[in-house]
Amino acid sequence: MATKQRARVVLDRTKAHVRYRYVCPHGHIDWDQTNNHIWCRGCRRQAENGDDVDPEHRELVDKKTSEVIPWERIEIVVPEPEEREADA
Ligand SMILES: [Zn+2]
Repeated sequence: MATKQRARVVLDRTKAHVRYRYVCPHGHIDWDQTNNHIWCRGCRRQAENGDDVDPEHRELVDKKTSEVIPWERIEIVVPEPEEREADA
């Protein structure tokens, strides 16, 4: 009872509404997953423009609820190719 395991968040980033909902802590949608964290292109651009931002993150923000979700709880799913398009 004491340990409250929060549900995993499964993201299908081929869907636009998912991409726009789960953003980096600085509000960008153009992040990528790396080995065990998130790398954000938008933050990289800001850093190149002289802002003090780190393009690497270990959490995402759910814009709908403003919840900060640690990377450990996030699962990126990629639809099977045959689900996207039948290719003969
Ligand atoms: Zn960012």
